[in-house]
Amino acid sequence: KTNNMTIQDILQKEELDTKDIATLLQTEGDEQKLLFAKAQEVQLEYVGRKVFYRGLVEFSNVCAKNCFYCGIRKDNKEVVRYHLEDKQVLEAARFAYENNYASIVLQAGERSDDFFVDRVDRLLKDIKVLSNGELGITVSLGEQSDQTYQRWFDSGAHRYLLRIESSNKVLYNQIHPDNDAHDFENRVRCLHSLKKIGYQTGTGVMVGLPWQTYDDLARDLLFMRDFDIDMCGMGPYIEHHQTPLFQNRAQLWPIETRFSVTLNMIAVLRILMKDINIAAATALQAIDPMGREKALRIGANVIMPNVTPTLHRKDYLLYENKPCADEGAEDCSNCLSMRIELADREVGYGEWGDSKHFMNRK
Ligand code: SAM
Ligand code: SF4
Repeated sequence: KTNNMTIQDILQKEELDTKDIATLLQTEGDEQKLLFAKAQEVQLEYVGRKVFYRGLVEFSNVCAKNCFYCGIRKDNKEVVRYHLEDKQVLEAARFAYENNYASIVLQAGERSDDFFVDRVDRLLKDIKVLSNGELGITVSLGEQSDQTYQRWFDSGAHRYLLRIESSNKVLYNQIHPDNDAHDFENRVRCLHSLKKIGYQTGTGVMVGLPWQTYDDLARDLLFMRDFDIDMCGMGPYIEHHQTPLFQNRAQLWPIETRFSVTLNMIAVLRILMKDINIAAATALQAIDPMGREKALRIGANVIMPNVTPTLHRKDYLLYENKPCADEGAEDCSNCLSMRIELADREVGYGEWGDSKHFMNRK
């Protein structure tokens, strides 16, 4: 009872500090219900019941980086590497367009060689042509130079997703120890550059990393607020046995805790940043078959149905038990619209569903 009061008191405050947020992030049971009720209220008032689709095209798993958590890191020699052909990327984009998804996300391992940068540029232009300029395009291709970001923006990309992964520099360095390729300051620089160019800028973190604390997660949310992001995608960290971070699995929170705290992160972020877009990450579904739907009810308003050709999905395994690796885009589409209705939300077919936060700032 007393505890309930405490959570209620925190939820009524105008400004939340690190300690308040860390307390909210640890709620479970009845206290968590209070948090969820508040987040849902904010969601319905500021962004409504609509959920927007972003058709996800994972067009290559070749990566120049070695993030310690990721299944497709450069040094994982057991991965079968693939590139979709241009034709396959455009077909996936066409599928999204014809099914009224209105937006797609181009995602891949990180590379910044000229060949790759040119290729993405060409794909962006071709996607704009095939959709009469109607398909919105989010890019999620890691750290690039200002020139590359500008070039892709000029060719039609208008949203960019670059997770900070953790806003705690010490933790960031622990999960990206190979310092030639990884630099926390550069990641922050990239986020600033994207915002300055005019992208709707999205970031996010993994929840439940080894060494991560509730205070770290609270500061992650304050980092997002202070940076004034437009979009967020965050999901639970899920271990992959062919990665170095797997060695630290003994210290991990139980998978159910990582799941539950991710929902709490989404709920608190909705309360902190009322009109941004928040994605229901696929990794939630790897833990709970209804994971994404649960997120949509407590603050998330974007979902990223996979439109990558089925043949290659099994090679883009960032973590274990990644869902829908055998499903085709058609199956995903039918399955999802049903799930969204069950979550008492409605699909914003044919609408870009831009971040209201971004639009309101302009
Ligand atoms: N290469 C680009 C990048 O890193 O920004 C885009 C693709 S990367 C695979 C997309 C996201 O996958 C990363 O930002 C990271 O948060 C997430 N990810 C990678 N490995 C993961 C894991 N084991 N568990 C959960 N999420 C993971
Ligand atoms: Fe590459 Fe992105 Fe995976 Fe890091 S998270 S290894 S950059 S694909």
